[in-house]
Amino acid sequence: MADVLDGVEIELPCENCGRVTKKTIGWIKRNAQYTCTCGTLVRLDADQFRREIGKVDRSFADFQSALKKFNK
Ligand SMILES: [Zn+2]
Repeated sequence: MADVLDGVEIELPCENCGRVTKKTIGWIKRNAQYTCTCGTLVRLDADQFRREIGKVDRSFADFQSALKKFNK
């Protein structure tokens, strides 16, 4: 499950320009910060990140159970 989620992209907002950068969960696990295209170094808030993961995790679980129903 965790490995599958590594390929899921989530949107990271820049606090300076508001631009959203998409990074995969696998990338975020290996990086504590990223540089926005505006040049701002954005630190990845671990708590916010966990909330985002939780959202993805739930929707992914919903998706899987929907698939299982579909395959019956
Ligand atoms: Zn920015």
